[in-house]
Amino acid sequence: MQFTAKFLLSAMKPEQFPNDARTGGAPEVAFLGRSNVGKSSLLNSLIGEAAAKVSSTPGRTRAINFFALHEGTPQKHAFTPKLVFADLPGYGYAKISKSISAEWPTFIEPYLQEREELALCLCLVDTNIPPQTSDTQLIHALQQMQRPYVVVGTKADKLSNNQLAKSVAVLKKAHEVENVIAISSKTDAGIKALWAAILQGTQV
Ligand code: GDP
Repeated sequence: MQFTAKFLLSAMKPEQFPNDARTGGAPEVAFLGRSNVGKSSLLNSLIGEAAAKVSSTPGRTRAINFFALHEGTPQKHAFTPKLVFADLPGYGYAKISKSISAEWPTFIEPYLQEREELALCLCLVDTNIPPQTSDTQLIHALQQMQRPYVVVGTKADKLSNNQLAKSVAVLKKAHEVENVIAISSKTDAGIKALWAAILQGTQV
Protein backbone atom coordinates (compact mmCIF):
# COMPACT_ATOMS: atom_id res chain seq x y z
CA MET A 1 0.00 0.00 0.00
CA GLN A 2 1.38 3.42 -0.86
CA PHE A 3 0.48 6.42 1.27
CA THR A 4 0.70 10.15 0.84
CA ALA A 5 1.13 11.83 4.23
CA LYS A 6 -0.11 15.30 5.06
CA PHE A 7 0.35 17.30 8.23
CA LEU A 8 -3.08 17.91 9.76
CA LEU A 9 -2.59 20.03 12.89
CA SER A 10 -0.76 20.48 16.20
CA ALA A 11 -2.91 20.16 19.31
CA MET A 12 -2.13 21.55 22.75
CA LYS A 13 -5.43 20.52 24.31
CA PRO A 14 -8.09 17.85 23.70
CA GLU A 15 -10.54 20.32 22.11
CA GLN A 16 -8.01 20.73 19.31
CA PHE A 17 -7.71 17.03 18.43
CA PRO A 18 -8.88 16.50 14.83
CA ASN A 19 -12.49 15.43 14.47
CA ASP A 20 -14.16 13.04 12.03
CA ALA A 21 -14.59 15.82 9.47
CA ARG A 22 -10.79 15.96 9.19
CA THR A 23 -9.94 12.28 9.59
CA GLY A 24 -13.02 10.45 8.32
CA GLY A 25 -12.79 8.47 11.60
CA ALA A 26 -9.66 6.70 10.32
CA PRO A 27 -7.81 4.52 12.87
CA GLU A 28 -5.00 6.32 14.65
CA VAL A 29 -1.48 5.20 15.52
CA ALA A 30 0.29 7.00 18.39
CA PHE A 31 4.08 7.36 18.49
CA LEU A 32 5.41 7.41 22.05
CA GLY A 33 8.93 7.46 23.46
CA ARG A 34 11.58 9.26 25.47
CA SER A 35 13.21 12.34 23.98
CA ASN A 36 16.09 11.35 21.71
CA VAL A 37 14.80 7.79 21.18
CA GLY A 38 14.66 8.41 17.43
CA LYS A 39 10.96 9.24 17.05
CA SER A 40 11.36 12.06 14.51
CA SER A 41 13.80 9.95 12.50
CA LEU A 42 11.36 7.04 12.43
CA LEU A 43 8.48 9.28 11.39
CA ASN A 44 10.68 10.62 8.60
CA SER A 45 11.40 7.06 7.45
CA LEU A 46 7.69 6.19 7.50
CA ILE A 47 6.10 9.33 6.07
CA GLY A 48 8.96 11.46 4.76
CA GLU A 49 8.60 15.14 4.02
CA ALA A 50 5.41 15.83 6.00
CA ALA A 51 7.10 14.72 9.24
CA ALA A 52 10.45 16.37 8.49
CA LYS A 53 8.85 19.78 8.07
CA VAL A 54 6.95 19.55 11.34
CA SER A 55 9.88 18.32 13.45
CA SER A 56 11.93 21.32 12.36
CA THR A 57 9.20 23.80 13.36
CA PRO A 58 9.82 25.31 16.84
CA GLY A 59 7.03 24.90 19.37
CA ARG A 60 5.61 21.75 17.84
CA THR A 61 7.67 19.44 20.05
CA ARG A 62 5.40 20.02 23.07
CA ALA A 63 2.21 19.41 21.11
CA ILE A 64 0.56 16.33 19.64
CA ASN A 65 1.15 16.51 15.90
CA PHE A 66 -1.40 14.75 13.72
CA PHE A 67 -0.77 13.45 10.19
CA ALA A 68 -3.29 12.05 7.74
CA LEU A 69 -2.19 9.17 5.52
CA HIS A 70 -4.08 8.97 2.23
CA GLU A 71 -3.87 5.90 0.02
CA GLY A 72 -2.17 6.63 -3.30
CA THR A 73 0.58 8.80 -4.75
CA PRO A 74 1.13 12.54 -4.18
CA GLN A 75 -0.30 13.08 -7.70
CA LYS A 76 -3.37 10.91 -7.19
CA HIS A 77 -4.58 9.96 -3.75
CA ALA A 78 -7.83 9.27 -1.95
CA PHE A 79 -9.64 12.20 -0.32
CA THR A 80 -10.42 10.42 2.95
CA PRO A 81 -7.41 9.29 5.04
CA LYS A 82 -6.87 5.57 5.61
CA LEU A 83 -4.79 6.13 8.73
CA VAL A 84 -3.83 8.92 11.12
CA PHE A 85 -0.46 9.17 12.86
CA ALA A 86 -0.26 11.05 16.16
CA ASP A 87 3.23 12.12 17.22
CA LEU A 88 3.28 12.68 20.98
CA PRO A 89 5.88 14.77 22.85
CA GLY A 90 8.94 12.92 24.07
CA TYR A 91 9.18 12.20 27.79
CA GLY A 92 11.74 11.28 30.45
CA TYR A 93 14.94 12.93 29.38
CA ALA A 94 15.97 13.50 33.02
CA LYS A 95 18.26 10.78 34.36
CA ILE A 96 16.15 10.18 37.43
CA SER A 97 12.84 9.11 36.03
CA LYS A 98 9.80 10.76 37.54
CA SER A 99 6.36 9.38 36.91
CA ILE A 100 5.49 9.89 33.27
CA SER A 101 2.23 11.57 34.17
CA ALA A 102 4.11 14.23 36.18
CA GLU A 103 6.45 14.96 33.29
CA TRP A 104 3.92 14.91 30.56
CA PRO A 105 1.60 17.78 29.80
CA THR A 106 -1.79 16.95 31.20
CA PHE A 107 -3.35 16.53 27.78
CA ILE A 108 -1.35 13.37 26.98
CA GLU A 109 -3.17 11.22 29.47
CA PRO A 110 -6.63 12.32 28.31
CA TYR A 111 -5.46 11.52 24.78
CA LEU A 112 -4.43 7.97 25.72
CA GLN A 113 -7.48 7.44 27.92
CA GLU A 114 -10.18 8.87 25.74
CA ARG A 115 -9.17 9.12 22.10
CA GLU A 116 -11.71 6.84 20.44
CA GLU A 117 -9.86 6.53 17.14
CA LEU A 118 -6.64 5.36 18.83
CA ALA A 119 -6.11 1.84 17.49
CA LEU A 120 -2.44 1.21 18.18
CA CYS A 121 0.38 2.70 20.28
CA LEU A 122 3.98 2.38 19.16
CA CYS A 123 6.26 2.49 22.21
CA LEU A 124 9.74 3.39 21.05
CA VAL A 125 12.66 2.16 23.17
CA ASP A 126 16.36 2.63 22.43
CA THR A 127 18.18 -0.70 21.88
CA ASN A 128 21.48 0.98 22.78
CA ILE A 129 20.69 1.80 26.39
CA PRO A 130 19.48 -0.31 29.33
CA PRO A 131 15.71 -0.60 29.87
CA GLN A 132 14.28 2.68 31.20
CA THR A 133 11.81 2.92 34.07
CA SER A 134 9.83 5.62 32.28
CA ASP A 135 9.27 3.23 29.35
CA THR A 136 8.11 0.47 31.70
CA GLN A 137 5.73 2.97 33.33
CA LEU A 138 4.26 3.90 29.98
CA ILE A 139 3.82 0.28 28.89
CA HIS A 140 2.14 -0.58 32.20
CA ALA A 141 -0.14 2.43 31.85
CA LEU A 142 -1.16 1.27 28.36
CA GLN A 143 -1.77 -2.25 29.64
CA GLN A 144 -4.00 -0.86 32.38
CA MET A 145 -5.92 1.23 29.86
CA GLN A 146 -6.18 -1.87 27.64
CA ARG A 147 -4.64 0.00 24.75
CA PRO A 148 -3.06 -2.23 22.08
CA TYR A 149 0.64 -1.46 21.70
CA VAL A 150 3.77 -2.62 19.91
CA VAL A 151 7.25 -2.07 21.37
CA VAL A 152 9.72 -0.78 18.77
CA GLY A 153 13.47 -1.00 19.42
CA THR A 154 15.23 1.93 17.71
CA LYS A 155 18.78 2.52 16.38
CA ALA A 156 19.35 -1.19 15.70
CA ASP A 157 22.12 -0.35 13.20
CA LYS A 158 24.42 0.70 16.05
CA LEU A 159 24.65 -2.89 17.35
CA SER A 160 26.00 -6.15 15.94
CA ASN A 161 23.39 -8.88 15.34
CA ASN A 162 24.54 -10.60 18.49
CA GLN A 163 24.37 -7.45 20.63
CA LEU A 164 20.97 -6.60 19.18
CA ALA A 165 19.55 -10.05 19.99
CA LYS A 166 20.81 -9.64 23.57
CA SER A 167 19.40 -6.13 23.89
CA VAL A 168 16.00 -7.23 22.57
CA ALA A 169 15.94 -10.11 25.06
CA VAL A 170 16.77 -7.75 27.94
CA LEU A 171 14.12 -5.23 26.84
CA LYS A 172 11.45 -7.94 26.53
CA LYS A 173 12.20 -9.20 30.02
CA ALA A 174 12.37 -5.77 31.68
CA HIS A 175 9.19 -4.45 30.07
CA GLU A 176 7.42 -7.84 30.27
CA VAL A 177 6.44 -7.85 26.61
CA GLU A 178 6.35 -10.69 24.09
CA ASN A 179 7.82 -8.88 21.14
CA VAL A 180 10.13 -6.01 20.27
CA ILE A 181 10.37 -4.96 16.63
CA ALA A 182 13.95 -3.78 16.06
CA ILE A 183 14.29 -1.02 13.50
CA SER A 184 16.82 1.42 12.09
CA SER A 185 15.87 4.70 10.52
CA LYS A 186 19.40 4.89 9.12
CA THR A 187 19.39 1.57 7.20
CA ASP A 188 15.58 1.00 7.05
CA ALA A 189 16.09 -2.40 8.70
CA GLY A 190 12.82 -3.59 10.26
CA ILE A 191 10.72 -0.85 8.66
CA LYS A 192 8.76 -3.34 6.52
CA ALA A 193 8.03 -5.46 9.59
CA LEU A 194 6.88 -2.34 11.42
CA TRP A 195 4.55 -1.33 8.57
CA ALA A 196 3.09 -4.87 8.65
CA ALA A 197 2.47 -4.51 12.41
CA ILE A 198 0.85 -1.10 11.89
CA LEU A 199 -1.47 -2.36 9.14
CA GLN A 200 -2.35 -5.45 11.15
CA GLY A 201 -2.87 -3.48 14.38
CA THR A 202 -5.16 -0.96 12.70
CA GLN A 203 -6.81 -3.50 10.35
CA VAL A 204 -6.15 -1.25 7.36
P1 GDP B 1 13.57 12.19 18.92
O1 GDP B 1 14.01 13.17 19.96
O2 GDP B 1 13.00 10.95 19.54
O3 GDP B 1 12.69 12.74 17.86
O4 GDP B 1 14.93 11.64 18.23
P2 GDP B 1 15.59 11.98 16.81
O5 GDP B 1 14.90 11.30 15.69
O6 GDP B 1 15.77 13.45 16.71
O7 GDP B 1 17.00 11.26 16.99
C1 GDP B 1 17.85 11.52 18.09
C2 GDP B 1 19.29 11.19 17.71
O8 GDP B 1 19.42 9.81 17.40
C3 GDP B 1 19.77 11.94 16.46
O9 GDP B 1 21.12 12.25 16.63
C4 GDP B 1 19.58 10.90 15.35
O10 GDP B 1 20.49 11.08 14.27
C5 GDP B 1 19.87 9.60 16.07
N1 GDP B 1 19.11 8.48 15.47
C6 GDP B 1 17.77 8.40 15.30
N2 GDP B 1 17.45 7.25 14.70
C7 GDP B 1 18.59 6.57 14.49
C8 GDP B 1 18.90 5.29 13.89
O11 GDP B 1 18.04 4.53 13.44
N3 GDP B 1 20.23 4.94 13.86
C9 GDP B 1 21.22 5.74 14.35
N4 GDP B 1 22.47 5.29 14.28
N5 GDP B 1 20.95 6.94 14.91
C10 GDP B 1 19.67 7.36 14.98
